[in-house]
Amino acid sequence: MGRLILIVLVVLLVLWLLRRALAAGKRQDAPSESGAPDLVSCAHCGVNLPRSEARSAGGRHFCSEEHWRLGPRED
Ligand SMILES: [Zn+2]
Repeated sequence: MGRLILIVLVVLLVLWLLRRALAAGKRQDAPSESGAPDLVSCAHCGVNLPRSEARSAGGRHFCSEEHWRLGPRED
């Protein structure tokens, strides 16, 4: 009887570890709804770059320190 309980506990532990592994894998595969990186365009030159690499100021994004200093291009 003790052995049966042990087997049940091992099966539950394996299932729990599998669910955890699947949940972690899903989170890594889907940073956004499409799986593509979150791109923003530079307010000065219009180049697209990942949001994490962009400089942001006043709700606008810039590709570099230089373009951030120059500000949005007006045309
Ligand atoms: Zn730029």
